[in-house]
Amino acid sequence: MTGSTKYIFVTGGVTSSLGKGIISASLAKLLQARGFTVTIQKLDPYINVDPGTLNPYEHGECFVTEDGAETDLDLGHYERFLDVPTSQANNVTTGRIYQNVISKERRGEYLGKTVQVIPHITDEIKRNIQALGRKGIYDFVITEVGGTVGDIESLPYVEAIRQLKWEKGRDCLTIHLTLLPYLRTSGELKTKPTQHSVKELLSLGVQPDVLVCRTEHGMQKGMKEKIALFCNVEPQAVIESRDADTIYDVPLLMQEEGLDEVVLRKLGIESFPEVDLTAWKDFLRRYKEPKAEVSIGLVGKYVELQDAYKSIKEALEHAGAANETKVHIKWVHSEKLNAKNVAKQLAGLSGILVAPGFGHRGIEGKIEAIKYARENKVPFFGICLGMQCAVIEYGRHVLGYTDANSTEMNADTAHPVIALMEEQKAVADKGGTMRLGAYPCKLGEGSLALKVYGRKDITERHRHRYEFNNSYLESYQKAGMVASGINPKGKLVEIVEIKDHPWFIGVQFHPEYRSTVARPHALFVGFVQAAVKAAVPKGEKAEA
Ligand code: GLN
Repeated sequence: MTGSTKYIFVTGGVTSSLGKGIISASLAKLLQARGFTVTIQKLDPYINVDPGTLNPYEHGECFVTEDGAETDLDLGHYERFLDVPTSQANNVTTGRIYQNVISKERRGEYLGKTVQVIPHITDEIKRNIQALGRKGIYDFVITEVGGTVGDIESLPYVEAIRQLKWEKGRDCLTIHLTLLPYLRTSGELKTKPTQHSVKELLSLGVQPDVLVCRTEHGMQKGMKEKIALFCNVEPQAVIESRDADTIYDVPLLMQEEGLDEVVLRKLGIESFPEVDLTAWKDFLRRYKEPKAEVSIGLVGKYVELQDAYKSIKEALEHAGAANETKVHIKWVHSEKLNAKNVAKQLAGLSGILVAPGFGHRGIEGKIEAIKYARENKVPFFGICLGMQCAVIEYGRHVLGYTDANSTEMNADTAHPVIALMEEQKAVADKGGTMRLGAYPCKLGEGSLALKVYGRKDITERHRHRYEFNNSYLESYQKAGMVASGINPKGKLVEIVEIKDHPWFIGVQFHPEYRSTVARPHALFVGFVQAAVKAAVPKGEKAEA
């Protein structure tokens, strides 16, 4: 597209958790499918500088970008939908905005002025929004504002949007996402909360251009017109967003509702190519019409909160579709697993994935699960802490190092088979100080990893402080656990596998961050394929 970058803002009203991230990603997908270049950004109104220090119970998974930014899990959706990497610039928090402003103030850059929310904080917000546009590569920058309009902490963001709309006129557009609650007693959807939410936005000086209304039921006749009348939008700019079977249906549902066309016309773009979603629809067909089914156990300590493993769950879905297989995930609580119940808990599973994590809680259960997978030749996939636990398990039960451990869990172990990386030893701050982002890795000749990837040189994203302790490498290799992926520079062990097993891989990195609808990750595809091969006949299913 020629001309200036267009800015689309997505705000939320009525309640949180309406799925702004999925709506933003779906709109972006539709624009991309019309040949435009798009990026999506998330502004988070909390004070943490990034979500890296947040407990998963707070905001779910922390998503890591190529450039090593620890970001909101919505960036995972953006990448999975668009198949385009995001970066630090795609996630900005209030903490970071203030940190930048305060650093400038300390450097004396405000030349003696009083530093205030308006204009200094709002200027910094606008600078961060436009930084993506200034790259000159995007036709559209979609900016999703976290939280709900009316929250005290989102006020500066809405004010920044107001100012940008004023400055940029037709190059800006605001989409407001609301909820139409359904009252069962009267059998009706109600529009009042949407009206109030738009009034709230208007009181802050922002007139939404498009309303996307989340609803469990189809909108009644005349409802779009009614909302349009009360909220100063055109009826065609009132978009119904029904609950979908899968998030991957949402781009198609939004296309049916004409969301992308309304957006393009309102931004003054009158002629545009047709949407081409051939590959996307092919993915959906394979996803929805599976020819086989497998049950895979996901062993972790946050299983009651599946958002903590969002990217892993989605990567398994992508790999399922690639194999035309329905993947049933059995969420297994690592804290509740022990030597006594492990066989019963994991019986009937065709694959066992041990999840990443921090701290000692649940790690003994993870080790039991790995022992079970190794001894019973069940396909095993360990990610980050899951890989480290596989090394500990092998040390304890094959090499006879009975107290083998990671120094993260036991600083005094006689066998620190996993230990703090050299460069981590002097690190005191917690935020942004892990080994983060993409690093290269070389795969070993004749390894399963090489077979799965089909190439020798790979790069993958990391997020950890501990590593395989190389002083044990020789003993492990002799005993049958080989390092099949090595970081060429630091010689860090990135992948371990065992030979005498149908599929046993532990990776120090996070392949789940790289899996997208367009390109399911090879390791997940290989793992699901191995699980299909190992699938237990019906009737021998694991206990629910
Ligand atoms: N806690 C481990 C480390 O810091 C593993 C981290 C992870 O699983 N992401 O090395």
